Amino acid sequence: MIDETHFSESEPDDVAIDERSEASAYVHEIDESFEVDKPRIERAVREILLAIGENPEREGLLETPARVARMYAELFQGLNQDPAKHLQKFFTEKYDSMVIVRDVEFHSMCEHHLLPFSGKVHIGYIPQGRVVGLSKLARVVETVSRRPQLQERMTETIADLLKNELGALGVGVVVEATHSCMTLRGVKKPGSYCVTSAMKGTFRSNAKTRAEFLNLALKK
Ligand SMILES: [Zn+2]
Repeated sequence: MIDETHFSESEPDDVAIDERSEASAYVHEIDESFEVDKPRIERAVREILLAIGENPEREGLLETPARVARMYAELFQGLNQDPAKHLQKFFTEKYDSMVIVRDVEFHSMCEHHLLPFSGKVHIGYIPQGRVVGLSKLARVVETVSRRPQLQERMTETIADLLKNELGALGVGVVVEATHSCMTLRGVKKPGSYCVTSAMKGTFRSNAKTRAEFLNLALKK
């Protein structure tokens, strides 16, 4: 995907069979007691080294499988964490205008290549009594991004969480990212951004609300 903008306007009941609805249909059963099997990753990394014709016994590579196992455990730790719990501590506020949090940085791993993609998330919502702190939104973004991930699914997941957990009247999420699977290999398009968005509630039904959000979120 090069410089594409996806406006996701599909709600669960107007199902369109496209890439996105398949992507958002995927649900991983969260098991908070799960522990990453690091020895298994170590064996696999050793296999990769052998498969590319390297010698895993040479000095520089001796610790690599263990290092990669620790790194993967960290990069994928969000897979078995429930992001909703960060939204369960909210303030009760009689504020009913748009709240926008821009430029929340994230780093994730593309599930197609296991290569990083990173960028920024912009979040807007119109509260219905429940407001959360900036750090909680950043925690949600972090948990959702530390998984084998697709940018489209990540965008939808964050929007759904805000809509469902905060009961917000409307939610808009825009994610801008560069994918190293596009810059390092294949079509090699450095500098291209992939932009995805998800609009829920009033952000979906009201063009003015949506325009106000996009204008403030994407202002450079
Ligand atoms: Zn990829």
